[in-house]
Amino acid sequence: MKLCLSCMFPNDPDVHFCAKCGAPMTSYAAIGPVEQLLAEGHGYRQAAERPRKFIVVLGVWIIFGGTAISGAELLFIGRDMGWQYVVVGGFFLPVSLMMIWKTTWGYFTRPRIDGDRDD
Ligand SMILES: [Zn+2]
Repeated sequence: MKLCLSCMFPNDPDVHFCAKCGAPMTSYAAIGPVEQLLAEGHGYRQAAERPRKFIVVLGVWIIFGGTAISGAELLFIGRDMGWQYVVVGGFFLPVSLMMIWKTTWGYFTRPRIDGDRDD
């Protein structure tokens, strides 16, 4: 068993990502192209889970708004250039939109202290 450094969950020794929290477990997690995306996603996920400041939401909109547009473009031009582009675009577009949605939703539904209501 190998302990996750992020949440101390005991994982199988041959996994690249923690089964509980998704943190990267091996150096391979930082080298593989898909694994690298997942490792970066873990950092974003933690920031996006319960954003306290609107600037975090804004940052996510800028970062993932860009990848969403790129994904949409790939989907569009991919029809002429090859199925690989469609696959990549089809991956980035929904993932980006989901991150934007999750962060925005997490921000506006976050637990508020008394006197902090705006509804
Ligand atoms: Zn973990």
